[in-house]
Amino acid sequence: MKKSVFIEDLSWPEFAGAMALDDVIILPVGSTEEHGPQSPLGTDFFIADALARAIGEKAGALVAPAIPIGNAQGLLDFPGTISIDPAVLTDLVFEVCENFVRHGAGRFFFVNGHGGNNAALRHAAMALYEQYGVFVVSSEWWQLMPKISEYKAHDHGGKFETSMMMAIDESIVDLTKADTKQIEKLTDNITFDYGFFYRGAAVSLNLPASEFAPRGNFGAPSEEARREIGEGMFAVYTDYCAGIIQEIRRIPGGV
Ligand SMILES: [Zn+2]
Repeated sequence: MKKSVFIEDLSWPEFAGAMALDDVIILPVGSTEEHGPQSPLGTDFFIADALARAIGEKAGALVAPAIPIGNAQGLLDFPGTISIDPAVLTDLVFEVCENFVRHGAGRFFFVNGHGGNNAALRHAAMALYEQYGVFVVSSEWWQLMPKISEYKAHDHGGKFETSMMMAIDESIVDLTKADTKQIEKLTDNITFDYGFFYRGAAVSLNLPASEFAPRGNFGAPSEEARREIGEGMFAVYTDYCAGIIQEIRRIPGGV
């Protein structure tokens, strides 16, 4: 059998053989959307795909082809952004996983590259559990990073996300174009810091990004991005997630 853990590299008998030994599948889910003037539109799916592949190799778990499009409604003012309705993404993820369940999958690990996909992935995960009793763990690297490392990831197309992209492929990031511009406050009492805050507490105030960040990137400034920061986060995150996958394998049940 081939050494690859990437599903697209395998023949169907090889896939069936791998599923008979282990019922975990890693599914990267990304987005194609603006990430400021310095970073590629594919940032979220390049990152989700690269992280998923590294986690799969570390954990010895199969990795599905990445879903490159998600819900990016708030970014549609920026050319090149593609957005699908969350319900469409839920259905897409559910059906892809449903096919894998038919062929032996019992546990999934979603590597989500984009916060806007969150609700859709949660719906798909619950529906998969309700209908087939399969477990889904969904993970977002930038949420986890401040909790498990010194990297306080806090941006969209800013210091940390651009660094992560540089660690994956520096040739498609142009840091000379990095030029972060964002508002500091919306009113005297509603401030902006990678999200809106009123009297110190986060307020879910939904505005298109063009209203608070005219270049498209916001949070920690992209000018401070460095490949080494990305490499550090990449290593910490993929080690951590490979560990979670070992634990998921110990949960009794599955298909
Ligand atoms: Zn992103």
